[in-house]
Amino acid sequence: MSVTVCPCGSGNLLDACCGHYHAGSPAPDAQTLMRSRYSAYVLGLIDYLVATTLPAQQAGLDRNAIAEWSTQSTWLGLDVESAEVFGGQPEHAFVTFTARWHDSAGEHAHRERSAFVQNKGTWYFIDPTVGLKAGRNDPCPCASGQKFKKCCASYLGS
Ligand SMILES: [Zn+2]
Ligand SMILES: [Zn+2]
Repeated sequence: MSVTVCPCGSGNLLDACCGHYHAGSPAPDAQTLMRSRYSAYVLGLIDYLVATTLPAQQAGLDRNAIAEWSTQSTWLGLDVESAEVFGGQPEHAFVTFTARWHDSAGEHAHRERSAFVQNKGTWYFIDPTVGLKAGRNDPCPCASGQKFKKCCASYLGS
């Protein structure tokens, strides 16, 4: 058992918080996944960051850039502002948060509204920097089995 306090700012021990999800338990909701992804940046768990991104986007991720950002930043904290859950089949959610970190260029605070989608009980982060290459009538990249326009496109506004 580690007695490290979880980097996500919950005040709980890592093993009782994001550590669960890093070890393989599925995050129960988008906000929990978001927090565990922040913790993964702090802890340098690049595999986890890749695995929790929408599978259709994983090949488009720049692993080295993620690893570099993770290790060259001093992570200062996370504030989750809100988590909006939409209905949808499957469920979609947006989490609004601010992450703060320090690097060679100074201190940064980045506020973002991130999109998440659930597929068969597993939540995934939809990375806005990796294009979702699908026509509006194509099957949605989230593998919901629905058309893109009826699924993620309608939530992402693309
Ligand atoms: Zn945590
Ligand atoms: Zn979708």
